[in-house]
Amino acid sequence: MSEPPRGYESIKIQKTEHAEENAKSINVLDEEIKKVIYHAETSGEKLFIPGEERFFTKTKIGEKTFYVEYSPVGEGEYRVFNVYAYKPVHKGGKLVGAQTVNWHCFKCGVPMRAASVNMEYRGISGAVEGIMCPKCGETYLLEDVVKAKVLKAEKLIDAKSR
Ligand SMILES: [Zn+2]
Repeated sequence: MSEPPRGYESIKIQKTEHAEENAKSINVLDEEIKKVIYHAETSGEKLFIPGEERFFTKTKIGEKTFYVEYSPVGEGEYRVFNVYAYKPVHKGGKLVGAQTVNWHCFKCGVPMRAASVNMEYRGISGAVEGIMCPKCGETYLLEDVVKAKVLKAEKLIDAKSR
């Protein structure tokens, strides 16, 4: 395991082509990616895949929730595989069936499970498919659902409330 970085400013990142594309199209800055990784590494609020040095984390900065999927590659240096962000806020969720995914909650050490996740934005609520820790109740949304549903809903609601 690598040492936790001194501060987010000292973190070095290298983005994959996919992360670079998402960062551009969803407007995520390198500084935000570094803050998210720093928060995950210092708080332990992240998901992991057993046997792999691969992590997935989400953090709220300002009005957006940012997601970063990453691996440590050296002292304070990380390879970033995926990044996305949205403004709707998480309002809990409920487990649906027994289906589990590879991602495990780092704090609880148990596999995440398929869930229906409640989201709210500017007074409008809805549920989308996501994953949830059966122990601590932390909910995450995966990229396909974020792109197909959450970001579209966010744009529509923004346009209506303008
Ligand atoms: Zn948990």
